[in-house]
Amino acid sequence: MRITYKQKCSRCKKNFVLVTWKNKYPLCYECQKNEMQGEIKDPETKKLFNIPEEFYKENSFLRSVKINYLKYGQLSEKQVEFFKKTVQKMKEEQGTPKTVAPEPIQFESNISLRALRLAKKEAKEKKAKEKREK
Ligand SMILES: [Zn+2]
Repeated sequence: MRITYKQKCSRCKKNFVLVTWKNKYPLCYECQKNEMQGEIKDPETKKLFNIPEEFYKENSFLRSVKINYLKYGQLSEKQVEFFKKTVQKMKEEQGTPKTVAPEPIQFESNISLRALRLAKKEAKEKKAKEKREK
C-alpha cells in the first residue's frame, strides 16, 4: 500500500502537496511550474516526460525528476525506471473508477446517528427517573 502525506508547500505555504514520503521541503505544482519549463533535446527523454500535465500536478516525484533533468541534463537508470513505473501506476489508477468514498462515510454517519439516538434515549430515561424521584 502506498502511504501519502499531505503537507503544506514550504514556499507559498498555501497549497497542499501530496508526497509519498516524509519530505521536509515539499513544493507545490504552482511553485515548481516555472522550474519545469525548458527544452529537452534528447528524444528518448522528451518521450519520457511527455505525459498528461495532470500527472505532474498530482505527483511531486514526477516533478522532481523533470526538474532534476532540466538542471543537470541527465537521469540515472533508477530515476527513469521509477518514473515510468509511477506513470504506469497513475494511468491504471485513472482507468479504475473510484468507488471507495461513499461506504465508509455512510458507515460513520450510521454510527454517529446511533450514538445520537442512544444519547437522546438516555437523556429521556434520566428525565423520567428524576420525575419519579420527585
Ligand atoms: Zn507552493
